[in-house]
Amino acid sequence: MECAGKGSGTRCLGPPRKRCGRCGAVAYCSASHQISHWKEHREECDRLEQQMKRLDLLNDFPFTFSQEATVQINEKQESRCSFLSKRGIHQVGMWICECCCGASITSFNYSRPENNTWNFSSILCPCRGPSSPIAKSLSSWKDYYEWRCIPLCSPVALLLHWPLTLYHAIQISGLGSLTFEVSKLCIHYLGPEKELLQLAVFGELRALFPGVHVHIELIGPAVPQHRDGDKIDLYSYAHCIEEDCTCKSENESTSCGIGTRISSAVTLQLHRGFYHDRFRDISKNSFPHLVIAPNAGIAAYSSWLPTIVCL
Ligand SMILES: [Zn+2]
Ligand SMILES: [Zn+2]
Ligand SMILES: [Zn+2]
Ligand SMILES: [Zn+2]
Ligand SMILES: [Zn+2]
Repeated sequence: MECAGKGSGTRCLGPPRKRCGRCGAVAYCSASHQISHWKEHREECDRLEQQMKRLDLLNDFPFTFSQEATVQINEKQESRCSFLSKRGIHQVGMWICECCCGASITSFNYSRPENNTWNFSSILCPCRGPSSPIAKSLSSWKDYYEWRCIPLCSPVALLLHWPLTLYHAIQISGLGSLTFEVSKLCIHYLGPEKELLQLAVFGELRALFPGVHVHIELIGPAVPQHRDGDKIDLYSYAHCIEEDCTCKSENESTSCGIGTRISSAVTLQLHRGFYHDRFRDISKNSFPHLVIAPNAGIAAYSSWLPTIVCL
């Protein structure tokens, strides 16, 4: 991030540590640069303030954590590791990043099949399409678990909060009704972190948006260099642990049927870097219906601030 007053005639006096007290969206190296930039900034300050407030709203999503899971961790003073161990999901499958002993994001490799698994029996996880179509709009984890016929004790919400947060953002932005009209929904997803090791969970968007092709551009500095530009097609749900479950054959039939596009699909593309640097290039191919930064940090994550300004 740069001082917003840079280039105004005098040199910057160091890193931009001082935020605009009203919008909080721009920062300055010094009081004198803040004062000299005010003429220009006053026009955008209001709009930025509104935007920053909306970002706070985004932090109140109902689909962030499974209450059941977090209550257990808090009340019983249980550690993440032992919570995961008791359920047989410590340091395995997509859970590998869910405690601090997990793998680092930079070493992630999506093509390793162990990264596509819930490591649960099929009763405890959504490894296949829904048995009933999504009827009403879901507004809580309880709605979701009931629709997907998963018992509330299952901790899958800990990983499903990524796709469900997207689902919720699409609902509150008014795009929910649009998805019945458009066949392709394009999302710019900023600042992915550990979800890079859990990309298979985004397959759940097939169930949440039946008949829609959901395309997500994931853009952030945590995307490793060697994965920059990678495209990932999700034609199946994240798998359960049962060898003979039909979730595996669903996968096989789609992987041999090259060219047979199923109506609802989820495609992902990874981009390394910051949104404000990559925005123009990425938007050439896919102009976003929705831009979202689910790791919430956006307000606190200063390197994204120029991004907010350009939105
Ligand atoms: Zn400056
Ligand atoms: Zn400015
Ligand atoms: Zn301001
Ligand atoms: Zn652990
Ligand atoms: Zn299964």
